Amino acid sequence: MNRRDFLLRSGAAASLSLLARSALFGQPQVIGPGSGGPQPQAHPTGTGGPPIQAPTPITEFRPLRRNVGYFTGRGGTIGWLASSTALVAVDTQFPDTAAIFLKDLPGRNGRGMDAVINTHHHGDHTGGNGIFKPVTKTIVAHANVPALMLAAAKRSPSPAIPTVPNETFPDSWRHEFGDETTAARYFQPAHTSGDIVVHFEKANVVHTGDLVFNRIYPVIDRAAGGRFQSWLTTVEAIVKTYPADAIYIFGHGSQKFGVTGGHPDILAFRDYVAALLGYVGKEIKAGKTKDEITKLDNFPGFPDLHVPPGPGNRLAGNLGAAYDELASS
Ligand SMILES: [Zn+2]
Repeated sequence: MNRRDFLLRSGAAASLSLLARSALFGQPQVIGPGSGGPQPQAHPTGTGGPPIQAPTPITEFRPLRRNVGYFTGRGGTIGWLASSTALVAVDTQFPDTAAIFLKDLPGRNGRGMDAVINTHHHGDHTGGNGIFKPVTKTIVAHANVPALMLAAAKRSPSPAIPTVPNETFPDSWRHEFGDETTAARYFQPAHTSGDIVVHFEKANVVHTGDLVFNRIYPVIDRAAGGRFQSWLTTVEAIVKTYPADAIYIFGHGSQKFGVTGGHPDILAFRDYVAALLGYVGKEIKAGKTKDEITKLDNFPGFPDLHVPPGPGNRLAGNLGAAYDELASS
């Protein structure tokens, strides 16, 4: 099956150049002080002339299986269920791409959404919530997400009130939408302390949010309760929990490996986290300082993750976070 045959493009995205792909998968994740704060403004995407601000983001819809697919634009990958009887989105990116998603979601035809599910609180996964809110029955997330969104907004240099989920759960959540069953589950603190995994059971498609970074150095949000040690066991639990033939949607991925995959991709990420913790633990035991430990340009043994030193290279942040975690435990 040629995936290109199934490629549905947003009307706003006439072509997908190599450069655009690079921008799509290679951009650093938006995180930190601005995570819950105001996001870039939407701009006109119609045909009435050139855009007033930034160029229209490159966006893409790709069907995967049984009315479930994914959307890429700017920020964390959006998963979707779009059937004649149900419409669900997993994550909302930013206001501008959320508006494009709602306009062009295949088969929506102006219908309201049954649910929006946030995999966690970060602004590049929830920044479009305000665009979805008027057209969705509910916004669902883990119980820790509303407080984490509000705390991130407070830390922002120009605080704005975020659109928080109205329906939360501590451990698991399940709902029938049309002829599909959607189940979400919280494991342990990992990327943050509010990450859930969403499973469209009949389609057998699993959205991991940022619990899996596919062949890129991950972001860990320690201020929001993220921990590498329990992230490692969470990733192992995911592989044990969901079927081996599930199609996975990841929050972020490298240009080469993309944002979908399966258990081998998840295990590759597991191996990186295990090696990172092993390396930092060994260096601490050898009496090295944090400055010495965080000096590596790239992590040996994982060439798929390697990127030039600079702002797009998060290895020093990973090493520092692992140091802080291990030195304090
Ligand atoms: Zn995130």
